[in-house]
Amino acid sequence: MNMTLKKTEKEYDVVIIGGGPSGATTGYLLSEKGYDVLLIDKETFPREKPCGGLLTKKTICFLKRIFNENPVSLMEKKVIDYVSSNWRMYHDLKKVDEGVLQYPFYYVKRRRYDAYLLNIADRKGVEVIEGEKVTNIDLSKDEVFTESGRHFRARHIIGADGVNSILRRSLVDDGSIEVDYWTEDLGVGLQQGINREDITLEIDGFNIDLGILKSGYGWVFPNKDHILVGIGGVPGQDEDMMKIFERFAERLGVQIEKEKMVSHPVTLGNFIRKPIHENKFLVGDAAGLMDPISGEGIYYAHKSAEIVSSIIQSKDEYPDLDARKMYASKLNSEIINRLSTSLLLRDIWADVPEALEYGILKFGVKLFGNKAFRFIHGTDTGEA
Ligand SMILES: Cc1cc2nc3c(=O)[nH]c(=O)nc-3n(C[C@H](O)[C@H](O)[C@H](O)COP(=O)(O)OP(=O)(O)OC[C@H]3O[C@@H](n4cnc5c(N)ncnc54)[C@H](O)[C@@H]3O)c2cc1C
Repeated sequence: MNMTLKKTEKEYDVVIIGGGPSGATTGYLLSEKGYDVLLIDKETFPREKPCGGLLTKKTICFLKRIFNENPVSLMEKKVIDYVSSNWRMYHDLKKVDEGVLQYPFYYVKRRRYDAYLLNIADRKGVEVIEGEKVTNIDLSKDEVFTESGRHFRARHIIGADGVNSILRRSLVDDGSIEVDYWTEDLGVGLQQGINREDITLEIDGFNIDLGILKSGYGWVFPNKDHILVGIGGVPGQDEDMMKIFERFAERLGVQIEKEKMVSHPVTLGNFIRKPIHENKFLVGDAAGLMDPISGEGIYYAHKSAEIVSSIIQSKDEYPDLDARKMYASKLNSEIINRLSTSLLLRDIWADVPEALEYGILKFGVKLFGNKAFRFIHGTDTGEA
Protein backbone atom coordinates (compact mmCIF):
# COMPACT_ATOMS: atom_id res chain seq x y z
CA MET A 1 0.00 0.00 0.00
CA ASN A 2 1.41 3.39 -0.97
CA MET A 3 -0.06 5.68 1.62
CA THR A 4 1.35 8.91 0.25
CA LEU A 5 -0.12 8.63 -3.24
CA LYS A 6 -3.75 8.04 -2.33
CA LYS A 7 -5.88 11.10 -1.88
CA THR A 8 -7.74 11.50 1.41
CA GLU A 9 -11.31 10.36 0.76
CA LYS A 10 -13.00 12.96 2.87
CA GLU A 11 -12.19 15.24 5.76
CA TYR A 12 -14.26 14.79 8.92
CA ASP A 13 -14.67 16.74 12.13
CA VAL A 14 -13.99 13.57 14.07
CA VAL A 15 -12.72 10.08 13.23
CA ILE A 16 -13.35 7.47 15.93
CA ILE A 17 -11.41 4.21 15.89
CA GLY A 18 -13.51 1.50 17.55
CA GLY A 19 -17.27 1.00 17.89
CA GLY A 20 -17.58 -0.48 21.40
CA PRO A 21 -19.42 1.43 24.17
CA SER A 22 -16.82 4.25 24.27
CA GLY A 23 -16.69 4.79 20.50
CA ALA A 24 -20.44 4.48 19.88
CA THR A 25 -21.24 6.88 22.75
CA THR A 26 -18.68 9.47 21.59
CA GLY A 27 -20.05 9.25 18.05
CA TYR A 28 -23.65 9.56 19.22
CA LEU A 29 -22.98 12.62 21.39
CA LEU A 30 -20.91 14.50 18.81
CA SER A 31 -23.22 13.68 15.95
CA GLU A 32 -26.13 14.96 18.04
CA LYS A 33 -24.28 18.28 18.26
CA GLY A 34 -23.94 18.46 14.47
CA TYR A 35 -20.38 17.12 14.09
CA ASP A 36 -19.45 15.20 10.96
CA VAL A 37 -18.30 11.90 12.50
CA LEU A 38 -16.76 8.79 10.97
CA LEU A 39 -16.46 5.62 13.11
CA ILE A 40 -14.34 2.70 11.91
CA ASP A 41 -14.36 -0.78 13.49
CA LYS A 42 -12.38 -3.81 12.39
CA GLU A 43 -15.30 -6.11 13.19
CA THR A 44 -18.72 -6.43 11.62
CA PHE A 45 -21.50 -6.02 14.19
CA PRO A 46 -23.03 -7.81 15.97
CA ARG A 47 -19.66 -9.08 17.19
CA GLU A 48 -18.53 -10.92 20.31
CA LYS A 49 -16.55 -9.16 23.04
CA PRO A 50 -15.13 -11.10 26.01
CA CYS A 51 -17.03 -9.59 28.96
CA GLY A 52 -19.20 -10.53 31.93
CA GLY A 53 -21.72 -7.94 30.72
CA LEU A 54 -22.63 -6.79 34.25
CA LEU A 55 -24.12 -3.29 34.42
CA THR A 56 -24.27 -1.32 37.68
CA LYS A 57 -26.80 1.30 38.71
CA LYS A 58 -24.53 4.15 37.62
CA THR A 59 -24.47 2.67 34.08
CA ILE A 60 -28.26 2.38 34.06
CA CYS A 61 -28.49 6.05 35.16
CA PHE A 62 -26.10 7.00 32.34
CA LEU A 63 -28.20 5.13 29.75
CA LYS A 64 -31.30 6.94 31.02
CA ARG A 65 -29.66 10.37 30.99
CA ILE A 66 -27.97 10.07 27.58
CA PHE A 67 -30.15 7.67 25.57
CA ASN A 68 -33.43 8.06 27.46
CA GLU A 69 -33.61 4.31 28.07
CA ASN A 70 -34.58 2.48 31.25
CA PRO A 71 -34.35 -1.16 32.34
CA VAL A 72 -37.88 -1.90 31.12
CA SER A 73 -37.35 -0.40 27.66
CA LEU A 74 -33.96 -2.12 27.42
CA MET A 75 -35.47 -5.46 28.38
CA GLU A 76 -38.21 -5.02 25.80
CA LYS A 77 -35.51 -4.45 23.19
CA LYS A 78 -33.71 -7.54 24.51
CA VAL A 79 -30.64 -5.43 25.29
CA ILE A 80 -30.79 -6.39 28.97
CA ASP A 81 -30.89 -10.16 29.21
CA TYR A 82 -31.16 -10.80 32.97
CA VAL A 83 -31.81 -8.82 36.16
CA SER A 84 -31.09 -10.00 39.67
CA SER A 85 -30.49 -8.62 43.15
CA ASN A 86 -29.15 -11.89 44.52
CA TRP A 87 -25.51 -12.21 45.45
CA ARG A 88 -23.29 -14.92 46.86
CA MET A 89 -19.66 -14.66 47.84
CA TYR A 90 -17.29 -17.61 48.12
CA HIS A 91 -13.73 -18.24 49.26
CA ASP A 92 -12.21 -21.02 47.20
CA LEU A 93 -15.74 -22.31 46.62
CA LYS A 94 -16.66 -22.24 50.32
CA LYS A 95 -19.62 -19.90 50.88
CA VAL A 96 -18.74 -16.71 52.77
CA ASP A 97 -22.10 -14.96 52.70
CA GLU A 98 -25.14 -14.25 50.54
CA GLY A 99 -27.87 -11.66 50.38
CA VAL A 100 -30.19 -9.47 48.37
CA LEU A 101 -28.94 -6.15 47.02
CA GLN A 102 -30.80 -2.87 47.47
CA TYR A 103 -30.36 -2.28 43.70
CA PRO A 104 -30.08 -5.13 41.21
CA PHE A 105 -27.28 -5.88 38.78
CA TYR A 106 -28.23 -6.03 35.10
CA TYR A 107 -26.65 -8.53 32.71
CA VAL A 108 -26.22 -7.88 28.98
CA LYS A 109 -24.79 -9.92 26.15
CA ARG A 110 -22.11 -7.72 24.64
CA ARG A 111 -22.93 -8.95 21.16
CA ARG A 112 -26.40 -7.42 21.57
CA TYR A 113 -25.48 -4.40 23.75
CA ASP A 114 -22.72 -3.10 21.47
CA ALA A 115 -24.75 -3.62 18.30
CA TYR A 116 -27.63 -1.70 19.88
CA LEU A 117 -25.36 1.23 20.83
CA LEU A 118 -23.67 1.36 17.44
CA ASN A 119 -27.07 1.31 15.79
CA ILE A 120 -28.30 4.35 17.71
CA ALA A 121 -25.07 6.18 16.89
CA ASP A 122 -25.60 5.31 13.24
CA ARG A 123 -29.19 6.57 13.39
CA LYS A 124 -27.98 9.82 14.97
CA GLY A 125 -25.89 10.42 11.84
CA VAL A 126 -22.52 8.81 12.51
CA GLU A 127 -21.01 7.34 9.35
CA VAL A 128 -20.00 3.80 10.31
CA ILE A 129 -17.50 1.63 8.48
CA GLU A 130 -17.45 -1.95 9.75
CA GLY A 131 -15.00 -4.77 9.00
CA GLU A 132 -12.16 -2.33 8.29
CA LYS A 133 -9.07 -2.35 10.51
CA VAL A 134 -7.12 0.84 11.16
CA THR A 135 -3.51 -0.08 10.50
CA ASN A 136 -1.68 3.22 10.71
CA ILE A 137 -2.12 6.79 11.92
CA ASP A 138 -0.14 9.76 10.67
CA LEU A 139 -0.09 11.85 13.82
CA SER A 140 1.34 14.96 12.19
CA LYS A 141 -1.16 15.01 9.28
CA ASP A 142 -4.16 13.79 11.34
CA GLU A 143 -4.74 10.92 8.95
CA VAL A 144 -6.03 7.44 9.64
CA PHE A 145 -5.20 4.58 7.27
CA THR A 146 -7.09 1.31 6.98
CA GLU A 147 -6.19 -2.21 5.94
CA SER A 148 -7.83 -1.93 2.53
CA GLY A 149 -5.85 1.21 1.68
CA ARG A 150 -8.46 3.87 2.46
CA HIS A 151 -7.49 6.90 4.46
CA PHE A 152 -9.32 9.70 6.20
CA ARG A 153 -8.36 13.02 7.70
CA ALA A 154 -10.05 14.60 10.71
CA ARG A 155 -9.81 17.62 12.96
CA HIS A 156 -10.01 15.28 15.97
CA ILE A 157 -9.05 11.61 16.27
CA ILE A 158 -10.48 9.43 19.05
CA GLY A 159 -8.93 6.13 20.10
CA ALA A 160 -11.87 4.05 21.33
CA ASP A 161 -10.16 0.91 20.15
CA GLY A 162 -9.85 -1.03 23.36
CA VAL A 163 -6.98 -2.38 25.38
CA ASN A 164 -4.64 -2.91 22.39
CA SER A 165 -5.38 0.57 21.00
CA ILE A 166 -3.43 1.50 17.88
CA LEU A 167 -3.81 5.22 18.68
CA ARG A 168 -2.34 4.69 22.17
CA ARG A 169 0.57 2.70 20.70
CA SER A 170 1.21 5.41 18.09
CA LEU A 171 1.19 8.16 20.74
CA VAL A 172 3.48 6.19 23.02
CA ASP A 173 5.92 5.34 20.17
CA ASP A 174 5.95 9.02 19.24
CA GLY A 175 6.71 10.04 22.83
CA SER A 176 3.50 12.08 23.06
CA ILE A 177 2.10 10.00 25.93
CA GLU A 178 4.19 8.32 28.60
CA VAL A 179 2.96 5.02 29.97
CA ASP A 180 6.07 3.10 30.92
CA TYR A 181 3.95 1.50 33.67
CA TRP A 182 1.41 0.07 31.16
CA THR A 183 2.32 -3.61 31.62
CA GLU A 184 2.59 -3.33 35.42
CA ASP A 185 -1.12 -3.70 36.16
CA LEU A 186 -2.06 -5.38 32.94
CA GLY A 187 -4.08 -8.45 33.90
CA VAL A 188 -6.03 -11.04 32.04
CA GLY A 189 -9.63 -12.25 32.00
CA LEU A 190 -10.63 -15.78 30.99
CA GLN A 191 -14.26 -16.68 30.44
CA GLN A 192 -16.56 -19.29 28.99
CA GLY A 193 -20.31 -19.39 28.45
CA ILE A 194 -22.12 -22.64 29.26
CA ASN A 195 -25.65 -23.50 28.19
CA ARG A 196 -27.95 -23.94 31.15
CA GLU A 197 -29.10 -27.35 29.90
CA ASP A 198 -25.50 -28.61 30.08
CA ILE A 199 -25.10 -27.96 33.82
CA THR A 200 -26.82 -28.68 37.08
CA LEU A 201 -25.70 -25.41 38.76
CA GLU A 202 -28.65 -23.11 39.56
CA ILE A 203 -27.30 -19.60 38.96
CA ASP A 204 -29.77 -16.79 39.66
CA GLY A 205 -27.49 -13.87 40.57
CA PHE A 206 -24.04 -12.44 41.13
CA ASN A 207 -21.53 -15.06 42.35
CA ILE A 208 -17.93 -14.19 43.11
CA ASP A 209 -15.07 -16.17 44.57
CA LEU A 210 -12.32 -14.17 46.25
CA GLY A 211 -10.15 -17.10 47.26
CA ILE A 212 -8.90 -18.56 44.00
CA LEU A 213 -6.12 -16.11 43.07
CA LYS A 214 -4.06 -13.55 44.94
CA SER A 215 -5.13 -10.42 43.07
CA GLY A 216 -8.42 -10.95 41.30
CA TYR A 217 -11.51 -13.13 41.53
CA GLY A 218 -13.63 -15.77 39.90
CA TRP A 219 -17.22 -15.20 38.84
CA VAL A 220 -20.33 -16.99 37.73
CA PHE A 221 -22.91 -14.63 36.19
CA PRO A 222 -26.40 -15.46 34.93
CA ASN A 223 -27.89 -14.98 31.50
CA LYS A 224 -31.29 -16.41 30.53
CA ASP A 225 -30.06 -19.27 28.40
CA HIS A 226 -26.53 -19.70 29.73
CA ILE A 227 -24.16 -18.84 32.56
CA LEU A 228 -20.74 -17.19 32.32
CA VAL A 229 -17.84 -18.66 34.28
CA GLY A 230 -14.69 -16.56 34.42
CA ILE A 231 -11.64 -15.42 36.31
CA GLY A 232 -9.78 -12.14 36.07
CA GLY A 233 -6.89 -10.44 37.76
CA VAL A 234 -3.21 -9.62 37.72
CA PRO A 235 -1.46 -12.99 38.10
CA GLY A 236 1.41 -13.32 40.57
CA GLN A 237 4.71 -14.78 39.36
CA ASP A 238 3.79 -18.26 40.59
CA GLU A 239 0.22 -18.15 39.25
CA ASP A 240 -0.81 -19.76 35.96
CA MET A 241 -4.19 -18.23 35.03
CA MET A 242 -5.14 -21.08 32.72
CA LYS A 243 -4.51 -23.68 35.42
CA ILE A 244 -6.44 -21.61 37.98
CA PHE A 245 -9.35 -21.29 35.55
CA GLU A 246 -9.37 -25.01 34.78
CA ARG A 247 -9.33 -25.88 38.48
CA PHE A 248 -12.12 -23.36 39.26
CA ALA A 249 -14.30 -24.67 36.42
CA GLU A 250 -13.65 -28.30 37.24
CA ARG A 251 -14.69 -27.80 40.85
CA LEU A 252 -17.88 -26.10 39.65
CA GLY A 253 -18.55 -29.14 37.47
CA VAL A 254 -18.03 -27.13 34.29
CA GLN A 255 -16.16 -28.47 31.28
CA ILE A 256 -13.64 -26.00 29.79
CA GLU A 257 -13.68 -26.16 26.00
CA LYS A 258 -10.71 -24.34 24.53
CA GLU A 259 -12.61 -23.33 21.38
CA LYS A 260 -15.41 -21.71 23.44
CA MET A 261 -13.15 -20.11 26.05
CA VAL A 262 -12.05 -16.50 25.55
CA SER A 263 -9.07 -14.69 26.99
CA HIS A 264 -8.55 -10.95 26.92
CA PRO A 265 -6.15 -8.44 28.56
CA VAL A 266 -7.65 -6.28 31.31
CA THR A 267 -6.27 -2.94 32.45
CA LEU A 268 -6.42 -3.22 36.23
CA GLY A 269 -4.76 -0.04 37.47
CA ASN A 270 -2.74 1.26 34.53
CA PHE A 271 -5.13 4.10 33.73
CA ILE A 272 -3.56 7.03 31.87
CA ARG A 273 -4.05 10.32 33.67
CA LYS A 274 -3.59 12.47 30.56
CA PRO A 275 -4.73 10.34 27.62
CA ILE A 276 -4.59 13.18 25.12
CA HIS A 277 -2.13 14.76 22.75
CA GLU A 278 -3.21 17.89 20.88
CA ASN A 279 -6.36 16.81 18.97
CA LYS A 280 -6.02 13.06 19.68
CA PHE A 281 -7.92 11.56 22.61
CA LEU A 282 -8.13 8.10 24.18
CA VAL A 283 -11.33 6.86 25.81
CA GLY A 284 -12.48 3.69 27.61
CA ASP A 285 -10.12 0.70 27.68
CA ALA A 286 -7.71 2.46 25.30
CA ALA A 287 -6.96 4.82 28.21
CA GLY A 288 -6.96 1.97 30.77
CA LEU A 289 -10.20 3.17 32.40
CA MET A 290 -11.27 0.02 34.24
CA ASP A 291 -11.79 -0.51 37.96
CA PRO A 292 -8.63 -2.18 39.35
CA ILE A 293 -10.62 -4.42 41.70
CA SER A 294 -13.92 -5.22 40.01
CA GLY A 295 -12.79 -4.95 36.38
CA GLU A 296 -15.86 -2.82 35.61
CA GLY A 297 -15.17 -0.91 32.40
CA ILE A 298 -18.45 -0.37 30.56
CA TYR A 299 -19.47 2.58 32.72
CA TYR A 300 -16.06 4.26 32.35
CA ALA A 301 -16.17 3.70 28.58
CA HIS A 302 -19.49 5.58 28.44
CA LYS A 303 -18.45 8.27 30.90
CA SER A 304 -15.09 9.06 29.24
CA ALA A 305 -16.96 9.33 25.93
CA GLU A 306 -19.23 11.96 27.46
CA ILE A 307 -16.25 13.87 28.87
CA VAL A 308 -14.34 13.84 25.57
CA SER A 309 -17.40 15.00 23.63
CA SER A 310 -17.85 17.96 25.96
CA ILE A 311 -14.15 18.90 25.73
CA ILE A 312 -14.21 18.85 21.91
CA GLN A 313 -17.27 21.10 21.88
CA SER A 314 -15.77 23.52 24.42
CA LYS A 315 -12.50 23.66 22.50
CA ASP A 316 -14.35 24.48 19.27
CA GLU A 317 -16.32 27.19 21.02
CA TYR A 318 -13.34 28.64 22.90
CA PRO A 319 -10.19 27.86 20.85
CA ASP A 320 -7.88 29.24 23.56
CA LEU A 321 -8.93 26.57 26.05
CA ASP A 322 -6.24 24.13 27.13
CA ALA A 323 -7.93 20.86 26.07
CA ARG A 324 -5.18 18.71 27.62
CA LYS A 325 -5.59 20.32 31.00
CA MET A 326 -9.37 20.20 30.80
CA TYR A 327 -9.57 16.55 29.74
CA ALA A 328 -7.10 15.49 32.42
CA SER A 329 -8.88 17.49 35.09
CA LYS A 330 -12.39 16.20 34.23
CA LEU A 331 -11.16 12.62 33.86
CA ASN A 332 -9.42 12.83 37.21
CA SER A 333 -12.35 14.27 39.11
CA GLU A 334 -15.04 12.12 37.47
CA ILE A 335 -13.24 8.80 36.90
CA ILE A 336 -9.61 8.47 37.93
CA ASN A 337 -9.99 9.56 41.56
CA ARG A 338 -12.43 6.72 42.00
CA LEU A 339 -10.23 4.20 40.19
CA SER A 340 -7.30 5.35 42.36
CA THR A 341 -9.29 4.58 45.52
CA SER A 342 -9.84 1.03 44.23
CA LEU A 343 -6.17 0.71 43.34
CA LEU A 344 -5.14 1.85 46.81
CA LEU A 345 -7.49 -0.67 48.43
CA ARG A 346 -6.18 -3.43 46.19
CA ASP A 347 -2.58 -2.56 47.07
CA ILE A 348 -3.42 -2.61 50.78
CA TRP A 349 -4.98 -6.05 50.34
CA ALA A 350 -1.89 -7.23 48.48
CA ASP A 351 0.27 -6.12 51.44
CA VAL A 352 -2.05 -7.83 53.95
CA PRO A 353 -3.01 -11.12 52.26
CA GLU A 354 -4.52 -12.31 55.57
CA ALA A 355 -7.42 -9.91 54.82
CA LEU A 356 -8.59 -12.39 52.21
CA GLU A 357 -8.55 -15.39 54.53
CA TYR A 358 -11.94 -17.02 55.01
CA GLY A 359 -12.73 -15.85 58.57
CA ILE A 360 -11.56 -12.27 58.07
CA LEU A 361 -13.34 -12.03 54.73
CA LYS A 362 -16.58 -13.23 56.35
CA PHE A 363 -16.23 -10.62 59.08
CA GLY A 364 -15.33 -7.88 56.55
CA VAL A 365 -18.32 -8.69 54.33
CA LYS A 366 -20.69 -8.50 57.32
CA LEU A 367 -19.27 -5.09 58.26
CA PHE A 368 -18.67 -3.49 54.86
CA GLY A 369 -20.58 -5.62 52.32
CA ASN A 370 -23.50 -3.23 51.80
CA LYS A 371 -21.19 -0.23 51.63
CA ALA A 372 -19.01 -1.98 49.04
CA PHE A 373 -22.03 -2.73 46.85
CA ARG A 374 -23.20 0.87 47.12
CA PHE A 375 -19.70 1.99 46.06
CA ILE A 376 -19.83 -0.36 43.05
CA HIS A 377 -23.29 0.87 42.07
CA GLY A 378 -22.19 4.48 42.51
CA THR A 379 -25.04 5.40 44.84
CA ASP A 380 -22.66 6.60 47.58
CA THR A 381 -20.42 8.51 45.19
CA GLY A 382 -23.00 10.67 43.42
CA GLU A 383 -22.68 8.74 40.16
CA ALA A 384 -26.09 7.07 40.43
C1 LIG B 1 -13.29 -11.17 30.63
C2 LIG B 1 -13.79 -9.77 30.83
C3 LIG B 1 -14.92 -9.55 31.60
C4 LIG B 1 -15.40 -8.23 31.77
N1 LIG B 1 -16.56 -8.06 32.47
C5 LIG B 1 -17.07 -6.81 32.62
C6 LIG B 1 -18.33 -6.61 33.27
O1 LIG B 1 -18.99 -7.57 33.69
N2 LIG B 1 -18.79 -5.32 33.41
C7 LIG B 1 -18.08 -4.24 32.95
O2 LIG B 1 -18.53 -3.09 33.13
N3 LIG B 1 -16.89 -4.42 32.31
C8 LIG B 1 -16.38 -5.65 32.10
N4 LIG B 1 -15.22 -5.84 31.40
C9 LIG B 1 -14.57 -4.65 30.83
C10 LIG B 1 -15.28 -4.17 29.55
O3 LIG B 1 -15.45 -5.25 28.67
C11 LIG B 1 -14.47 -3.05 28.87
O4 LIG B 1 -14.05 -2.12 29.84
C12 LIG B 1 -15.29 -2.32 27.79
O5 LIG B 1 -15.60 -3.21 26.75
C13 LIG B 1 -14.52 -1.12 27.24
O6 LIG B 1 -15.22 -0.56 26.14
P1 LIG B 1 -14.44 0.19 24.97
O7 LIG B 1 -15.47 0.71 24.04
O8 LIG B 1 -13.44 1.13 25.52
O9 LIG B 1 -13.58 -0.97 24.24
P2 LIG B 1 -14.07 -2.28 23.50
O10 LIG B 1 -15.38 -2.72 24.00
O11 LIG B 1 -12.92 -3.24 23.61
O12 LIG B 1 -14.24 -1.85 21.98
C14 LIG B 1 -13.13 -1.58 21.18
C15 LIG B 1 -13.55 -1.70 19.71
O13 LIG B 1 -12.44 -1.27 18.90
C16 LIG B 1 -12.33 -2.11 17.78
N5 LIG B 1 -10.93 -2.04 17.33
C17 LIG B 1 -9.82 -2.42 18.02
N6 LIG B 1 -8.72 -2.17 17.28
C18 LIG B 1 -9.14 -1.63 16.10
C19 LIG B 1 -8.47 -1.20 14.92
N7 LIG B 1 -7.15 -1.25 14.82
N8 LIG B 1 -9.21 -0.70 13.90
C20 LIG B 1 -10.58 -0.64 14.01
N9 LIG B 1 -11.26 -1.07 15.09
C21 LIG B 1 -10.54 -1.55 16.13
C22 LIG B 1 -12.74 -3.50 18.31
O14 LIG B 1 -13.18 -4.33 17.26
C23 LIG B 1 -13.85 -3.13 19.29
O15 LIG B 1 -15.13 -3.18 18.68
C24 LIG B 1 -14.72 -7.13 31.19
C25 LIG B 1 -13.57 -7.36 30.43
C26 LIG B 1 -13.11 -8.66 30.23
C27 LIG B 1 -11.90 -8.88 29.36
